[in-house]
Formats: sequence, structure tokens, C-alpha cells
Amino acid sequence: MKYFTFGMETMRITQDYNGKASHYNHSHGSPKDYPIDVAGVDGGQSAYFATVDMKVTAIKGVGNSSTNTIWLESTEKVTTPTFNDFVWITLTHWNDGSKTAKYKVGDVIKKGDIIAYEGTDGASANHLHLVCGKGHSNNWVKNSKGSWVIKGDSLPPEEVMYIDPKFTKIVDNKNLKFKEVPKEEPKEDKTEAFFPKKGYFSLGDNHKNIGKIAEFMYKTFPSYTNKKALGNYYGPYLQSSIKEFQKRAKAEKKYDAEIDGNVGPKTLKALKKYGFKE
Ligand SMILES: [Zn+2]
Repeated sequence: MKYFTFGMETMRITQDYNGKASHYNHSHGSPKDYPIDVAGVDGGQSAYFATVDMKVTAIKGVGNSSTNTIWLESTEKVTTPTFNDFVWITLTHWNDGSKTAKYKVGDVIKKGDIIAYEGTDGASANHLHLVCGKGHSNNWVKNSKGSWVIKGDSLPPEEVMYIDPKFTKIVDNKNLKFKEVPKEEPKEDKTEAFFPKKGYFSLGDNHKNIGKIAEFMYKTFPSYTNKKALGNYYGPYLQSSIKEFQKRAKAEKKYDAEIDGNVGPKTLKALKKYGFKE
């Protein structure tokens, strides 16, 4: 997994998410979002770069009265200061005719490429209005305070983005406490193994995945699964249900191993053919 970082070479926040100029109703209504206005090195048009590969999920406002806004989400899960997941960002106020206006939904903007330059579409001075969050987003929604906020799980930017001090110089952070990107590589997200160390489930074991299997058997094969098989304990009722399953699956050529009443990788594969989900 990669760290997710802020994408401008200079961070000069001109309004934080509680700003009375225009953001207060965003972060105090329902639903809420947490916009910051970012300007670059001066009053001109600094660029906002993709810091990981990001896919365009929506682009609105070009050539109409809505304020130009682009929605993007990371193509992979990333590591942020508070979570590991997909991240979305929106950038608003770039101008018609700028490079951003040419992007299409589905385009992937590669790490290091420019997403947008500051602009004045719907604004009086060059800047970008930046909103970010966890998961996915591709739209606006009007909140209880009458503000159009970004739909989705918006979070304060300091919870979503690290600062890479080798890339970004902070000139004004409006006292938002951004963390610096850690020096060590982020840990890989280990998907928890389905089976315990021995590699399969058998009589006498106790595990939450046994509970899942038992529930699946009882729902899918009630004719030969006793209700007493339910629960996280691998008892004789579940064992006999699994034996019967193995026998029948073998007859239907969906299982080709021993009829032993244990659940290992081969039985798991067969269970999935009948709709079981890990
Ligand atoms: Zn703003």
C-alpha cells in the first residue's frame, strides 16, 4: 500500500473547513464535508498533482452554471493517517479551457501528473476548493444548512492526507495538524487467513469461520443440516452435514477429494461453487 499525501508544492490554506467566509455551513450541516481552500505559491495558478494513481469518477460544471469540479478516487487502497482504504478527492474552481476540462470519467491520472491548476470558476481569486474522504464519491448533495457538499464519507484533510516535506512546503496550514509522511514503508494489508494454522477445520475446532460455514450449510442444505450444527464449534452435527455435502458434491463432479467431514481448501472451493462466500 502507498501513503496518501497532499498534492501541491506549496500549502497555503486561505480558508479551513470551519471558515466563516463560506465553509462553516459545509462542516456544520447534515450531511457535512470538510473543504479547505488551497492556494499555491502566490496569487497565480499553481498546480495540484496526483500523488498516487487516481481515477476520474465525475466531472461537472464545464460550460454551465455549476462551479467546475472534478471527482477522483485512488485506483488502489492507500494508507492515510487514520485508515487504510480507497480515498477520494474533489477539486473545484479550475477554469473552463484548462487541462482539467478535457478529462473524462474513467481516465486514470498517473502519480506525478497534474490534475488541475488553481482557477476562478465560481470564485473571485485563484485557488482550489479541496474536499477529501474515505471510500467513493461522484456527486454533490445539498445539506441541512443549504450548502452543496460532496456526497460520501468526507473527513478533515489532516485525517486523509499526509504531508511529504520533500514535496510540499507549508506556508500556511491554518493550524490544521497535518502529519508528515512516515519514513518507513507502509505495511501490507494482510488479509486474514480463512483457516487456522493447521490449514483446515475439523471436529472439536472453534472459529468464527466455522460459524459462517455452519450458517451457510443450514440455510442452503436444510434437508441434511441439523439446526444443532449452528455456531462456531465444529461438532458432530456439522461434521455429518459436511460429509453429506462432500458425497453429493462429488456425485455432481464439483468436489474430488476425500469424504472426511473436514473443511479444508478443497471443500471450501466446492462450497463456493454452491454460493458460499468467505
Ligand atoms: Zn472553498
